[in-house]
Amino acid sequence: GLKKWFSVESDKFIGGKKQYVKAVDSIDFTIKKGETLGLVGESGCGKSTAGRALLRLIEATEGKVLLDGVNLYNLNARELKSLRKDMQIVFQDPYASLNPRLKVRQIIEEPMTIHTKLSKKEREVKVKQIMSDVGLNEMYLDRYPHEFSGGQRQRIGIARALAVEPKLIIMDEPVSALDVSVQAQVLNLIQDLQQKYDLTYLFITHNLSVVKHISDNIAVMYLGKIVEYGNKKMFFEKPLHPYSQALISAIPETNRNLRRERILLKGDIPSPMNPPEGCRFHTRCPFAMSICKTQEPQFLEIEENHFAACHLYTEGVKSDEKI
Ligand code: SF4
Ligand code: MG
Repeated sequence: GLKKWFSVESDKFIGGKKQYVKAVDSIDFTIKKGETLGLVGESGCGKSTAGRALLRLIEATEGKVLLDGVNLYNLNARELKSLRKDMQIVFQDPYASLNPRLKVRQIIEEPMTIHTKLSKKEREVKVKQIMSDVGLNEMYLDRYPHEFSGGQRQRIGIARALAVEPKLIIMDEPVSALDVSVQAQVLNLIQDLQQKYDLTYLFITHNLSVVKHISDNIAVMYLGKIVEYGNKKMFFEKPLHPYSQALISAIPETNRNLRRERILLKGDIPSPMNPPEGCRFHTRCPFAMSICKTQEPQFLEIEENHFAACHLYTEGVKSDEKI
């Protein structure tokens, strides 16, 4: 499992001893070529950290990440650099992630200059092609990021990621900062590009309805752990984990037959610095039983290709042990 523990200096410890925040605590998943995995969870659950550790933009404390069979955590700096072009990331805030002093042309060209051997002429041709692929007019090429709307800036961020023809793109909340009216357009673009460029996506979001349509599989994270994983259809029809059930119940549903009763969770997310014993979700779970307070549920395959970590599915646990 991939682990990322952040060390934090704490005044509580004499002599500056470190305390660890378990941002990501042993997670395992596979993304197949050409698919989209939606990684969902509330802010602070560790999903962005997992995405960055996956690309080694930050270093995991332990674990491995295989890209086409190559463990990224076995590579030295030079080898990693040569694989960088295969894995790109698109960030939530397109404005903060675009250099304000560069023209769009330079922003899209830069990764090609670093990671490919394309000539200046070839790069120019490609920049124009990508601009049109992301739905921007090439007459904008000599403009600066501040001259664009939020949606256009995110298109530029996506164009930059595409420039080196990556295999995997991590989309970290790519539409969360955009107006709702623009979100659907950018999501459609993201889907169209997946076909055209044969891309694999890890799509990180706090908003389950955003990945409802574009994901093949869904993974739900809570306090640094994946609590459920399964294909989209099974997940939405029969969510196994109480946390997933609560998230799904919060999505506005226009079809009355599909509407579920809203499950309201009590309390706030506990601090990742000091996660609850047993099942980390037990302080908020409407189904919590006494075993949940002390014993961590295993992540098990409950039905084919549908995994969950919850004692409701642990054999021999009776609901009369409810608390
Ligand atoms: Fe709820 Fe217990 Fe399942 Fe955790 S293990 S989600 S507390 S029922
Ligand atoms: Mg985040």
